[in-house]
Formats: sequence, structure tokens, C-alpha cells
Amino acid sequence: MSIKKVLIANRGEIALRIHRACHEMGIKTVAVHSTADADAMHVRLADEAICIGPPPAGESYLNVPNIISAAEIAHADAIHPGYGFLSENAQFAEIVELHNIIWIGPKPEHIRTMGDKIEAKRTAAKLGLPLVPGSDGPVEDVAEAKAIAAEAGYPVIIKAASGGGGRGMKVVQSEDQLEALMMQAGSEAKAAFGDATVYIEKYLGDPRHIEFQVFGDGKGHAVHLGERDCSLQRRHQKVLEEAPSPVISPEERDRMGGIVAKAMADMSYRGAGTIEFLYENGEFYFIEMNTRLQVEHPVTEMITGMDLVREQIRIAEGQPLSCTQDQIKFHGHAIECRINAEDPRTFAPSPGTVKGFHAPGGMHVRVDSGLYVGYKVPPYYDSMIAKLIVYGSTRERCILRLKRALEEFVIDGMKTTIPLHRALIEDPEFRAGEYTIKWLEDWLAREEE
Ligand code: ADP
Repeated sequence: MSIKKVLIANRGEIALRIHRACHEMGIKTVAVHSTADADAMHVRLADEAICIGPPPAGESYLNVPNIISAAEIAHADAIHPGYGFLSENAQFAEIVELHNIIWIGPKPEHIRTMGDKIEAKRTAAKLGLPLVPGSDGPVEDVAEAKAIAAEAGYPVIIKAASGGGGRGMKVVQSEDQLEALMMQAGSEAKAAFGDATVYIEKYLGDPRHIEFQVFGDGKGHAVHLGERDCSLQRRHQKVLEEAPSPVISPEERDRMGGIVAKAMADMSYRGAGTIEFLYENGEFYFIEMNTRLQVEHPVTEMITGMDLVREQIRIAEGQPLSCTQDQIKFHGHAIECRINAEDPRTFAPSPGTVKGFHAPGGMHVRVDSGLYVGYKVPPYYDSMIAKLIVYGSTRERCILRLKRALEEFVIDGMKTTIPLHRALIEDPEFRAGEYTIKWLEDWLAREEE
């Protein structure tokens, strides 16, 4: 069935991103917003806008009854959740479908399975994906933990089954620390997530974070769109992403991409998904799957020429995948910089009113942002205010263009992380593509000196 009107259950740059794809497809949009976002760009551009509550996300962007009511009032025939907020909430997806509204996302049961980290690993193992060595399920007692750790080899990491955002993880260097850290991990997990269940993995010393973009039609067909390298992280938060990864060969991409696409086809996965791996010494280790569109999806769009939101909408309409694996070609290189309203040294949030704004332009330069002069960045939400995505025929040319684009970029009125990106891309190790998930924190510590 063809979608005529989409309610966008999100805000900021991703709401704008979805609006753009919809309008290019002749689909009308309904923005929902908190009172703090009444002047947001996506609200201004949408065909209709409905206020769903006060600034705190719990009362607006996470307010299911109000969002469903807005969809009914506006006669929206589909809901796109973007990323964050309700995008990985299986119950919300079910409620949307119960109201005969099309959910532009994966099947609720797949969202639920992948949202539980132990279930996700079990499913991944069944589908033939390589895992980080460790426990098969929850670890109940210390004796069991010791046996598993001894087999995997120290160091190991204890993780919360319901964890997220890097919380509840403990690295254990040797057996004598195991009991105390296991107790700590359990009680922290209980306090943070209401669930003390933990599991154990081998702690990889110096991996990269490599993730594969996948699409399934929900009927047994799936393709991969190559990988993204998201190793540049601070506190497990991605800062800059690139595609392709500087360390993955075309043969490895084809092999691993083939494995993940087959896994998605076997589970009849529907829509967009990302399979995240740690990568060390030429081996991939599955850590989790995200059942939604990712912040960093534009780098994949740049090197494949595909519009990922358009693809999501087509699949939600019940159409087949727009291309076969053979038709997907990778060309050139793309890098995305996440630009946050933060102090570039201390990372303290710095919301404010935009006094001046000049986005870089020119060939192969894309800026996804809802900023405009006079716009007041609200303090209630995520601090990301823009994404700069740049393409080049090679990684080197991409970095030269990125440098030029960062030179042009002006956001006055608040501190932003633009200076951080300017400094980062000058680093010889970054230029050489030689970095792992620990690299950025070491680099920041060196900059402090
Ligand atoms: P969360 O859902 O809390 O973000 P993840 O399982 O995705 O947790 O892990 C977050 C980050 O923690 C990874 O990107 C990586 O930097 C680090 N990490 C997780 N598991 C391991 C491991 N087994 N070895 C080394 N680092 C790990």
C-alpha cells in the first residue's frame, strides 16, 4: 500500500532528514514537537505540526498516547521513529500496528530480540555470526564465572544483559578481582536497569568498531551496504565515522557482508538494521544489532548513492528491495563529523541562540542540520546540532575536502566541537587511518598536556 502521509516521531536533524525523503517521494509530513521545539526547522517545513507536550522527552517525544493521538488526528498512515526516543521500543511498534498505522521499522519481535543483549547474541550465534568468546547466557555464580573466564582468557568484561550506553560494564584483569567486580556489576546493573543479570565476554585489547548496514524486505531477502568504521569514540559515543573502513579489504567486505546479509535473510528481517562488530587481528566479533536507522547512515548513502530513508519507506509499503546485492556498488570515500553544542575541550554542554550560521557548500559536501540564525538550541535534548558529511574519490581527497569544509563552517552564539574536528583530521595517525576505539581518548589526553 502506498504511504501518503508520514508522522515523524522525532526532532532535530533526523526529523528534517525524514521530511526531505518524504517530500521527494511526494509524501506529506506531520511533525510532532514539544513546546521547546515550536520554532524548529522541521516543524516549519512539515505540512502539519502538532504539539505533543512539554519539553521533557518523557512527556513529549516518548509520550505514546499523545503521538498516537496526533497520528489519528492528522490521518497519518505511517510513523517513522528516526533514531533514539521510541525507535527501538517494540511495544510502541506493536501499538502503532494495532492502530492500523504503518510502522516504518523492523518487525516488533525482532526489535525485542535484539534489544536484549543475551538474546541478541544467542540469535546471532544461531545465524552463524562470530561472537566475542564468553558465556552462552547469563552468568549465575562466581564458580561459573571463573570457569568461563579461564576458558576465554583474561582480561574479561562483565556486561549487563539489559545494559546500554556503556553502563554496567567491568573489565576484570585477573581471577582474584572477579568476585568483587561481578558483585559490583550486578548491583550497578540492578540500580540502573532494574535487572541484575550479567554475562561475560573476553575483553579485546585494542579493537576497531566496524558495523555493517543491512536491509531486509521482511520476506526472506536481504542485502548489505558495506561497513562503516566508527572507532573514533569518546566514552563509547561516536564522534566521527567513515565508510569504507580504512582497514577492511574488498574481499573481507564481501565475505562478512555476505554473512550478515544471509543472517538477515534467514530471519526475514524487515527494514534497516546495523550489525555492530569489534574487529581485531583480522577477526570480527558481533557485539550488538541496532534495529533502526543510525546517526551515521549518510556515509553509506554517499558511497552507495542510495537514499536509506527512501528505502525504509519503500519496504514499509511492502515493496521489494530496490536493488540486488550485485547492483550495489561502492565508490569513493565518505566521512561524517558530528557537531555538538559542547565545549570542544571539556565537552560541557553549551546550548544557546544561533547568532551567525554559515554552512559549508561546494561539490560533495552535505550538512544535515536544523540550525538557522535566531534559532535557540534547547537544553533538554541531545547536544548534536549538525552533521557534516563529505565525499571524495579517495580517502585522501575526502579528508582534504573535509578540511576545507570545516574551514568554512561558522556557528556563532555557542561553543561547538568544530575546532575538535579541525584538529583531529590534521593528526598523522588519523590521516593514515591508524586508530582503534581507544585512540581518541588517548589523543584527547595528549592534547590536554
Ligand atoms: P552499549 O550497548 O552499552 O553501548 P556495547 O556492547 O555496544 O554496549 O559496547 C559499547 C562499547 O564498549 C564498544 O563499542 C566497545 O568500545 C566497548 N566494548 C564492549 N565489549 C567489549 C569487549 N568484549 N572488549 C573490548 N571492548 C568492548
